[in-house]
Amino acid sequence: MNRGAIAEIDLNSISNNLRVIKDLSNNRPVIAVVKADAYGHGAVDISRKLVNEVDYLAVAFTGEARELRDSGINIPIIVLFDPDAADIFKYNLIPVIGDKKTAITLSKEAEKNNRNVSVHVKVDTGMGRLGFTENTTKEILEIANLRGISIDGVMSHFSEADLLDTSFAMMQINRFNAIKAELLNNGLNVRLFHIANSAAVATLPESRFDAVRPGLMLYGYSPIQKTEVRSQKSELIPAMTVKAKILALRRLPTDTPISYGRTFITKRDSLIGVIPIGYADGFSRRFSNNAEVLVSGKKVPVVGRVCMDLTMIDLTDVEHVEEGDEAIIIGRQGNESIDAAELALRADTIPYEILTSLGNMAKRVYNS
Ligand SMILES: *Cc1c(COP(=O)(O)O)cnc(C)c1O
Repeated sequence: MNRGAIAEIDLNSISNNLRVIKDLSNNRPVIAVVKADAYGHGAVDISRKLVNEVDYLAVAFTGEARELRDSGINIPIIVLFDPDAADIFKYNLIPVIGDKKTAITLSKEAEKNNRNVSVHVKVDTGMGRLGFTENTTKEILEIANLRGISIDGVMSHFSEADLLDTSFAMMQINRFNAIKAELLNNGLNVRLFHIANSAAVATLPESRFDAVRPGLMLYGYSPIQKTEVRSQKSELIPAMTVKAKILALRRLPTDTPISYGRTFITKRDSLIGVIPIGYADGFSRRFSNNAEVLVSGKKVPVVGRVCMDLTMIDLTDVEHVEEGDEAIIIGRQGNESIDAAELALRADTIPYEILTSLGNMAKRVYNS
């Protein structure tokens, strides 16, 4: 068989989540972030679902944009981190520019192609990653004057819009507003200012500007883990289910060590299931003795260390189970559910990493 983990992606959930985003952002234009293969959900299929409902797609690198273009996706694509000039023209992409050198390269390529390129300019208001920092307006105005370049958008990115204390995020919004005012005062007519990631869409109406730029929410998760926004969170539907079929069932007596390092030893006569998912499938080794999966509608514990391709689960308390039955790693079964946020807490990480790890390694199937 191929690798054992299957990621089932429900495309209707994506539409539902987009509606939640539009409601929260007062129907601003949406830049749908589909980088990292749509956070593990498959960028081509997700983008096909979104093309008629969003205004832009955003990817990290031009290679991702090329894949979308090759699949017939024609809406504007913003490339967040990779201004490869040749690809930008070849695939008709919108680069994000965070320094003058890149702008000059693009301008030369534009002249060579005898074409114009629309760009978005990135300003660093507090993320400390990429973008113009000093003399921001002056440099942006210089770029606007380069041949073949027209600045269609100005963007920035939050470093912590996911906290209850919104003071740093508000400071970033204030800086962004100041830059906007300065550019407009200098006669630069930029159509689209945007800064709102999912966290900001969920909690900061002041962050909406001319468009919103969510990723995580599209896939059904709120980046906010505070109880205050639970009601919003519940409207989102996680689009990804991850499952694997039980490979083997074994009756093992008391005092049997399970898996590498004997970190789990049975305390009773046990029924142990072996499932074909391991850390090579993105099921982190941190889940060793530290996660649950769903079998027959019941949460059962992972026992012993997670291996490269296999994981053991304790099925002793499950009444009816057979080899070949499904074990749900993320998803619902009966009245129970496990989501990527829960796994993230256990592995001391964030749902983003759980989704990209599991989703990008499993075989994907789609429901719509
Ligand atoms: C990934 C990313 C987003 C989307 O962030 P979410 O938290 O997933 O909504 C938006 N903007 C930029 C620049 C990003 O890198």
